[in-house]
Amino acid sequence: MAESYKNLINGKLTEAKSGRTFENRNPANWEEVIAVFPKSGKEDVDEAVKAARAAFEKWRLVPAPKRGDIMRKIGDILVARKEEIAREMTREMGKVLAETRGDVQEGIDTAYYAATEGRRLFGNTVPSELPNKFAMAVRTPIGVAGIITPWNFPLAIPTWKIFPAVLSGNTVVFKPATDTPKTSATLVEIMMEAGIPEGVVNIVHGGGSEVGTAITLHPDIDLISFTGSSAVGKQISRDASETLKRVSLELGGKNAQIVMDDADLDLALDGVLWGAFGTTGQRCTATSRLILHEKIYDQFLATLIDRTKKLRLGDGLLPDSDVGPCINEAQRSVVQSYVQIGMNEGAKLVTGGSIAAEGVLAKGWFHQPTIFADVTPEMRIAQEEIFGPVLSVLRVKSLEEGIGVLNNTVYGLSSSVYTRDVNKAFVAIRDIKAGITYINVPTIGAEAHMPFGGVKQTGNGHREGGWTVYDFFTEWKAVYIDYSGKLQRAQIDNY
Ligand code: NAD
Repeated sequence: MAESYKNLINGKLTEAKSGRTFENRNPANWEEVIAVFPKSGKEDVDEAVKAARAAFEKWRLVPAPKRGDIMRKIGDILVARKEEIAREMTREMGKVLAETRGDVQEGIDTAYYAATEGRRLFGNTVPSELPNKFAMAVRTPIGVAGIITPWNFPLAIPTWKIFPAVLSGNTVVFKPATDTPKTSATLVEIMMEAGIPEGVVNIVHGGGSEVGTAITLHPDIDLISFTGSSAVGKQISRDASETLKRVSLELGGKNAQIVMDDADLDLALDGVLWGAFGTTGQRCTATSRLILHEKIYDQFLATLIDRTKKLRLGDGLLPDSDVGPCINEAQRSVVQSYVQIGMNEGAKLVTGGSIAAEGVLAKGWFHQPTIFADVTPEMRIAQEEIFGPVLSVLRVKSLEEGIGVLNNTVYGLSSSVYTRDVNKAFVAIRDIKAGITYINVPTIGAEAHMPFGGVKQTGNGHREGGWTVYDFFTEWKAVYIDYSGKLQRAQIDNY
């Protein structure tokens, strides 16, 4: 009998009002049901918002350093439970254990960063243009935050949003992805254990069209922080405009790694293998295009194919597995359809291309690591996010051409250049249109205390991570204090 989970609303475990449930299954063995979760709807969201609104009135008055103390405890509990959470996460979403440990570590880093931010949350003081007048700008909490997250970083992404939201004095209604509700439930349980008061963080499980839409449209939710696909991000943007909510969107990517002829090729090879096939290519920052200088193209591609063929597919809990399954059957079908598209477009399939179903793999959603060579920039496999283990390889004659090809998509999240020439590196840093540029590092590997986000259709201009996320979760209030004892009119009495 699978474990059964509930929503957590106002500190109480509650069923969905409809009484409906959904199952969460292991993508490496879809016969294994991990747990059953409530399939909630609008009426459950209404309850959660009511609780969050009531809790906000008290929580906003708790001093930020005290809120930070709770963040520190959350970090401590995550440290103590890191291995157990990582194992459960691998069972729930498939990526290999080293990566789920990294996912939990990112949550730990984010918790400790938030703890210290409780003693900063800096405002500004500036001189007034009038005598005997004081001017400052302070950060204030906004209200109830709707948090909607994807499945590929089941712990890290929710923490990027919930920790700064709560540290800033907001309260939260959180809807995790239906493929990874268990890790999210554990996170909320830990937050309660650390001392987050009832109603400050509420979790409502269920589908995007029901729970997600209800959150986005709710008139008493003040802001939405969303990470997911561009299609859903656009829908959320439209829905949230009804009530003029503040919205942060972290969306898709079509990230590229450029390798120049002067690069350390062994390093670049390790980088692209990790960037393209880590998390089975299911990262918003995954390397899905490799742009090679023509002088090293043949040699680099041959070694890459060789190394890719040696990657071992398998259950992420097993020490021998390099690459886990796709998250579900639908996602694997998307990967399959892009393989077909690539072949129809005339790209050269040089390795992989099929689902992997030998032996125990038959029970999971495995797909072979796949590489297309001789891809041209306009092909769909060079333009569209696939979100799976598929790499498109393109050939260029110069750095300038490579940067042009790299920039030639609607997305702009992550980018990478391998070169030993410092001049080329700085030209790339200047001219690449992306939120993140790595030099001699693959396209994945963001650190919790740095700004994270993309340009163009990867988002709407906000940043998560580090100090920048606090700009999204706080409102600026300008404060003027006149101690002159008389009416002083700005712009009039002083000029
Ligand atoms: P998704 O857009 O399908 O779902 C994301 C979340 O939105 C889920 O919780 C889902 O239930 C919910 N949702 C779906 N429809 C909704 C609606 N109409 N209204 C409100 N909520 C709704 O994305 P996914 O498949 O879970 O994740 C993969 C996508 O996420 C990829 O496109 C990837 O690039 C992107 N992603 C981006 C980043 C980033 O920081 N830029 C990070 C990770 C993943």
